[in-house]
Amino acid sequence: MTRAKRVGKCLCGAVEISISAAADKIGACHCTMCRRFSGGSAFMAVHGTEQIDAKGAEHIGRYKSSDWAERGFCTQCGTPLFYHLTVGTMEYFYSAGLFQNDDKDFKVNLEIFVDQKPDFYDFANAQSQRKTSEQVFQEVNE
Ligand SMILES: [Zn+2]
Ligand SMILES: [Zn+2]
Repeated sequence: MTRAKRVGKCLCGAVEISISAAADKIGACHCTMCRRFSGGSAFMAVHGTEQIDAKGAEHIGRYKSSDWAERGFCTQCGTPLFYHLTVGTMEYFYSAGLFQNDDKDFKVNLEIFVDQKPDFYDFANAQSQRKTSEQVFQEVNE
């Protein structure tokens, strides 16, 4: 069975985002900004491309959260939609929670900013690679 796309949507359904069916790896960011954005625990996102494929794009709000990224949300219901690098690779990282009809084979393979994770939650996912903020910044600067 092959599908061309995974289709996700926000809570109210005004925004629908499609990604490649091949995208199945989830990255989890525990940084303080992601935890504010996503409501408490890590921002869990599936990797996208530099093009966004969205229906209801007029309902997408964008907040410039740093000099290198913006965060997208639905202006109707507030659902976090994506983290978007506005420099370099220009990639989008979409909230994994959007794709609930199509997420059976999603796997967390990377956790970043693990040093900023609070003690009140942990992932039981032993497969994920874990990186501290220092390691992440090192890679960016290489
Ligand atoms: Zn919405
Ligand atoms: Zn983060």
